[in-house]
Amino acid sequence: MSRPQAPRGTRDLLPAERTVFLRLEGIARSLTDRYGYQPIETPLFEQAEVFERGVGAVTDVVEKELFRVSAGRGEAERERWALRPEPTAGMVRAYVQHGMQTLPQPVKLTLIGPMFRYDRPQAGRYRQFWQFDVEAFGDAGPAIDAEIIELAMRFYAEAGLPAVELRLNSIGDPACRPGYIEALRSYFAPHTEALPELERARLVTSPLRLLDSKEPAMAALIAAAPSITDHLCDACAEHFAGVRAHLDAMSVTYRLEPRLVRGLDYYTRTTFEFFPVGHDGQQDALGGGGRYDGLIELLGGRPTPGIGFGLGLDRVILALAAAGVAAPDVAHVSSVVVGADPADTLTRLRIATELRAAGLSARADLGRRKLGKQLESAAREGAHFAVICGDELEAGQVLLRDLQAGTQRPVTVTELTRELARSEAQHRHGAGGPGGR
Ligand code: AMP
Repeated sequence: MSRPQAPRGTRDLLPAERTVFLRLEGIARSLTDRYGYQPIETPLFEQAEVFERGVGAVTDVVEKELFRVSAGRGEAERERWALRPEPTAGMVRAYVQHGMQTLPQPVKLTLIGPMFRYDRPQAGRYRQFWQFDVEAFGDAGPAIDAEIIELAMRFYAEAGLPAVELRLNSIGDPACRPGYIEALRSYFAPHTEALPELERARLVTSPLRLLDSKEPAMAALIAAAPSITDHLCDACAEHFAGVRAHLDAMSVTYRLEPRLVRGLDYYTRTTFEFFPVGHDGQQDALGGGGRYDGLIELLGGRPTPGIGFGLGLDRVILALAAAGVAAPDVAHVSSVVVGADPADTLTRLRIATELRAAGLSARADLGRRKLGKQLESAAREGAHFAVICGDELEAGQVLLRDLQAGTQRPVTVTELTRELARSEAQHRHGAGGPGGR
């Protein structure tokens, strides 16, 4: 019989990798707490319309990569749902649905979770991947733009990534972007015949999207295209100068990148992306974000500004490995309760239960094997202590063995919890085990 495999473009996060993820999530949580972002969770799937309207119908994410869920019974139901390709549209939907516009603004929210894009799988590009996301609704910036960017840079620094480059741009707003789009259209029009099919269609529907085309044939044309920076209106230029001044004040360095339009339609003004220094491929991008002052209105709310980022955790992990940063150890229990009588699982389980109730990390060896085997397995999994139940039990004692120091001593059962708590604390502070006789 064939053995089922994880779907193409997905992978299991086994304990070693899951531990790295948890470490990153811990850093993200600690940072967002410190910066005043509150946690939120939204469904993994939404009405497809949330993304079609929010992200934009003429984008790679919606046209080519939307992971539609056909679970409904009737024809009408079938195409209604899609797995979230990114978190912002769903968070905006929640912000509007729950009347968060009446709360004191800005409302600052954060989410960590899986996203889904039905893309061609390759290195660093998965069909299910994880993002650390923050969004701030109700502040028109530019100070908060800079604060959010600095938060992302701090995340990379605390994660241990040595060199991350911030690329920064402004893509204008509804006042100045139409002029720029016209300039783009005029620029690309004489090359229509040479454009790949999708790009030719987009020249008509959404010329801005030509700038994030991944087609190699487009690279040279894109490089020589008109620059948005030359087309910003006064208000957008002032906003952009403000973002840069605030970044400078925090000593956050950046590279101006006038072609950086991001692959989603909802952005206005500030856009940014993060890359490992020296890596340019789109599948190397560690994260990105920007301002989306029209999105909340587009999804049925009152006009409200917003800005946020999504950082790809899978890519951060790849970059950490490439930089040779050591992965954290997978957690293991500190103590294992073993016994001379293989059959007496009752005593071992009772003692381990007491230790755990007291907040200690312990497991009982519940296999019915010889003491030697029990100790071997405790040592192999990296436990620090073995609590040995033997003849001393009659006198109300067990042997506490420090598996790392190779020492042991008798301890009364009533004092075991206190002894282990003290030893664990000493161990955590690097003072070694309980010592022995
Ligand atoms: P985007 O909004 O498309 O720029 O995505 C934000 C970040 O998510 C990117 O910079 C990547 O780090 C990550 N990301 C996007 N798509 C994928 C994918 N298919 N697989 C892994 N990570 C991804």
